[in-house]
Amino acid sequence: MTETPVEDLKPTFRGDVTVELVKHTASDSDVLFAARVSTVGEQSLDELSKDPARSKGLINYLMRDRHGSPFEHNSMTFLISAPIFVFREFMRHRVGWSYNEESGRYRELQPVFYVPDADRKLVQEGRPGKYEFVEGTQAQQELTARCMEDSYRQAYEAYQEMLAAGVAREVARAVLPVGLFSSMYATCNARSLMHFLGLRTQHELAKVPSFPQREIEMVGEKMEAEWAALMPLTYAAFNANGRVAP
Ligand SMILES: Cc1cc2nc3c(=O)[nH]c(=O)nc-3n(C[C@H](O)[C@H](O)[C@H](O)COP(=O)(O)OP(=O)(O)OC[C@H]3O[C@@H](n4cnc5c(N)ncnc54)[C@H](O)[C@@H]3O)c2cc1C
Repeated sequence: MTETPVEDLKPTFRGDVTVELVKHTASDSDVLFAARVSTVGEQSLDELSKDPARSKGLINYLMRDRHGSPFEHNSMTFLISAPIFVFREFMRHRVGWSYNEESGRYRELQPVFYVPDADRKLVQEGRPGKYEFVEGTQAQQELTARCMEDSYRQAYEAYQEMLAAGVAREVARAVLPVGLFSSMYATCNARSLMHFLGLRTQHELAKVPSFPQREIEMVGEKMEAEWAALMPLTYAAFNANGRVAP
């Protein structure tokens, strides 16, 4: 068994998330061929390139009338690295999603922890259900960073101490906080992604506003950018119809 070098065990702190599109079969034509089987049967693949304006109109019609199943015949797999508290929210999305996350039982967890960047608004003002976030003072930002970093260091030291004493990883990990970074593969299709984006991003075109936590929204924004490039007509129709998943 190889040992983790000591320098790798020093806690590191980051305020970003990463999203990589690792695999996909997803294009607007996947939507069109699935929809056109209704009218032209198994010849529908041949119909795809015949009339681009009609294709655009068909996608918009499907989105507007919430005829959702043609948006399921595609697949995107993302590798996401984010704090555990983001994954707790993420995995509430049950339908049209598959997940595999790194194990805290089979491998030693690496000390990478979340500390908000300076642009993350820290202070919540207003009453429940009707509040907004504002910047916060420099003192609040410094306090947040110091408290988080101290607490993370202490927790990781305790984790290391238990591992060194022979305690199993699956037991020792109980001391680690939800600000620890984890990684997972998440696979979805355009329909399940649209439902996720409708709930986990804020957008001026949204007919039904949502108020997601900023960190899961950061993940959503990166997934959205990848998806928009793969399926531009579907993406445009999603926005044009108020960002409500069909
Ligand atoms: C801003 C925000 C705040 C939240 N706050 C909390 C909170 O305080 N506490 C908390 O526990 N959760 C909270 N959640 C999570 C939320 O309740 C949902 O679990 C999460 O958004 C996943 O949505 P979903 O169930 O629609 O998605 P999915 O699980 O992907 O389901 C997709 C759709 O399938 C249908 N469906 C799925 N399962 C069922 C079922 N069993 N029965 C009937 N229909 C089904 C529904 O139409 C559903 O919309 C919050 C979510 C958001 C966006």
